[in-house]
Amino acid sequence: MGIVVQKYGGTSVAGVERIKVVAERIAKTAAQGNDMVVVVSAMGKATDDLVKLAHEISAVPHAREMDMLLSAGERISMALLAMALNEMGRDAISFTGSQAGILTDTSHTKARIVEVKAHRIERALAAGKIVIVAGFQGVSTELDVTTLGRGGSDTTAVALAAALKADVCEIYTDVKGVFTADPRIVRNARKLNSVTYEEMLEMAASGAGVLALRSVEFARTHGVVIHCRSSFTDEAGTVVKEEVEQVEKALVTAVSQDTSEAMIRVDGVPDRPGIAAKIFSDIARERINVDMIVQNVSHDGKTDLTFTMPKEDLIRSGDAVRRIISEIGAEGFSADSDIAKLSLIGAGMKTDPGVAAEMFSALAEHGINIEMISTSSIRISCVVRSMDINRAVKIIHERFGLAGAPSMSPAGRG
Ligand code: ASP
Ligand code: MG
Repeated sequence: MGIVVQKYGGTSVAGVERIKVVAERIAKTAAQGNDMVVVVSAMGKATDDLVKLAHEISAVPHAREMDMLLSAGERISMALLAMALNEMGRDAISFTGSQAGILTDTSHTKARIVEVKAHRIERALAAGKIVIVAGFQGVSTELDVTTLGRGGSDTTAVALAAALKADVCEIYTDVKGVFTADPRIVRNARKLNSVTYEEMLEMAASGAGVLALRSVEFARTHGVVIHCRSSFTDEAGTVVKEEVEQVEKALVTAVSQDTSEAMIRVDGVPDRPGIAAKIFSDIARERINVDMIVQNVSHDGKTDLTFTMPKEDLIRSGDAVRRIISEIGAEGFSADSDIAKLSLIGAGMKTDPGVAAEMFSALAEHGINIEMISTSSIRISCVVRSMDINRAVKIIHERFGLAGAPSMSPAGRG
């Protein structure tokens, strides 16, 4: 007996039938004597549809209004789920993010949670109610509705689990957990029983869509153990926590792909102190999250500089770069959205110097050109042409034997 936080993603509540199935699962957990707080995403592709509508009106929709619009998706699913539980004779009540006490900063469409004031949820639980909370949204310090960035319902769930000191935070999705690769691309990808926060952070930042990056950051900071599992089965999924069992300490853990980024190359950039600072502070001021940055060795006092950012920020990045170019006297720039990022992740690579070379050789043997490289202590990422990405994922998954039983690091590498 304790507090259980469950989060159901869009596919888990995609239609009335699915909502009823989810209500059954919630009722079952509640019947075991648990206090239940349930976070929901918008139904199916509802958020995508709302984004599309907005873009039919404006290429760059006003951020505050975008939040007003997008937060509507979760309102629908939360109310329907509460109704389904009521219909089953359960006392359930739904809350918007604001009613649930999710306070955020004022950065619309990518707000950060600054505090959770869960009194209203606690009162409802004390009154014996099942609490349903709209994911992905909050209220800003300026009292405006905000959203937490795509996939933000995961963050809502983790933040509530931390604030309520929940026993479990279960994230229900349409896949059985975290896999060694996207199972839609690699048919023999293997489900991982557990991964560390560190690995999950790198995976989430590299395109593994199963958990939102912010939710993993939040979980690590607050020590919330996440159980990521499917709402379509009763099987255990993947547990995300500080340390994993010895048997899972493989050299590399997973490969992921990210097709959500675009690339800008600025040519003929004067090579002197302060130029990179100028370019990237101007871009940061536009609240554009730059991912990879590569600067070439300079020739005749000029160099070129390439960086990647989310595709949806490409237009604004281009506008910013155009201004910057005239200010710093660079020659020009080009934008490219046909790129994809391939990443190989694993805590074991910290102590193994050969992983990068192995990855690059495998790609070279298959004629896949690498356009940019970046690394962390447990990740290697390569930018390739987007048309090559699925093939690249399969090649790397195969080369590192990720489908088989995990090999021990580093000696067990075959
Ligand atoms: N509905 C939002 C989205 O699609 C939030 C979420 O599902 O977590 O991004
Ligand atoms: Mg999600």
